[in-house]
Amino acid sequence: MNSEDYVRIEEAYGAKNYHPLDVVITKGQGVWVYDVDGNRYLDCLSAYSALNQGHVHPAILAALIEQAQKVTLTSRAFRNDQLPLLYRDLANLTGYEMSLPMNSGAEAVETAIKVARKWAYTIKGLPRHSAEIIVANGNFHGRTISLISFSSESLYKDDFGPFTPGFVSVPFGDIQALQAAMNANTAAVLLEPIQGENGVILPPAGYLADVQALCRQNNVLFIADEIQTGLGRTGKLFACQYEDVRPDITVIGKALSGGFYPVSAILADRPVLEIIQPGEHGSTFGGNPLAAAVARAALQVIVDEKLVDNAAALGEYFIEQLCEIPSRHVQEVRGKGLLIGVELKPQAGGARRFCEALLQHGILAKETHQHVIRFAPPLIIDRPTIDWALPRIREVLTMP
Ligand SMILES: *Cc1c(COP(=O)(O)O)cnc(C)c1O
Repeated sequence: MNSEDYVRIEEAYGAKNYHPLDVVITKGQGVWVYDVDGNRYLDCLSAYSALNQGHVHPAILAALIEQAQKVTLTSRAFRNDQLPLLYRDLANLTGYEMSLPMNSGAEAVETAIKVARKWAYTIKGLPRHSAEIIVANGNFHGRTISLISFSSESLYKDDFGPFTPGFVSVPFGDIQALQAAMNANTAAVLLEPIQGENGVILPPAGYLADVQALCRQNNVLFIADEIQTGLGRTGKLFACQYEDVRPDITVIGKALSGGFYPVSAILADRPVLEIIQPGEHGSTFGGNPLAAAVARAALQVIVDEKLVDNAAALGEYFIEQLCEIPSRHVQEVRGKGLLIGVELKPQAGGARRFCEALLQHGILAKETHQHVIRFAPPLIIDRPTIDWALPRIREVLTMP
């Protein structure tokens, strides 16, 4: 079978909740993927940053195989010998005292919201069911009903109500608006430090530090969704660290999996996370030994291969070189580390046709929103590979 056969079958039998580029990948290795017709591509999406360690990293693969041969699922009704070690590794790496494992990113954000609400009722002393959580316009936190309830994207939301109450949305990056939205019922502020899905939107410098200060003044929890920005992607372990911000709760997912097996978590200190009592929250697969073993190996690769430093150094180089491309279509190149957005002018005809052209040149990238091409290769990428990509990107960005 060739690519067209697979596309035809997928279109015939699969729900069309995505609009993928027509490349049918059959193999991945490091920063490269291969399609069923034998073509090679540089992966500049990294599964939305779930593949920071690259495709099929041998150390993570070995951990997966080893654990899969021993025990894969115990349920949390019993203990297993992998989860405690993941807890300890997460604490040592991130500096948070405790963590709570889930599977997908959306579930972890939901978990953070539940923890914040319970914190508001039991610690802050708000009347039950009165808690408000402030979020930002343009946010992306996942696809559950509660999370889309406070999305500002009509495509994600409009046909899926009724919605979960208790959320207030303010413009991203506007500290005055955030201050104005705070009231006696505010339990938490939930933000992405950089809005990835919204087109790699960076807040003004100092914003995250101001948010943290405002939260502390008002006895409000600051929850950072670092599912996409975390674990090295932006050139720091967490993007909040650029402003020396340490949120009360940090949510991670994506690259915690090493691209192998869904695993997410929320990180917090004892006073926050200890409020969750047995039975109040859970997940059949959350914290299973296979996930824990994979996550531990995925974290170890980030440390051993200095992926945070590599993202910082090569991200700076990549952005600098992208800025040099003389393209009449480009409005702005922006980003931090290896989370890079190239925003096109409205008259460029949308980012999709550029992503299709990049595909023809051996580069996989995906438009985010209509006018932004995101470049987010695995953090293991090296400079010669970026130098391989640059003339190809240049050719596409300078097309008519
Ligand atoms: C991808 C993402 C999520 C959702 O993660 P899933 O694993 O797809 O549920 C949440 N927040 C951010 C910032 C993300 O990028």
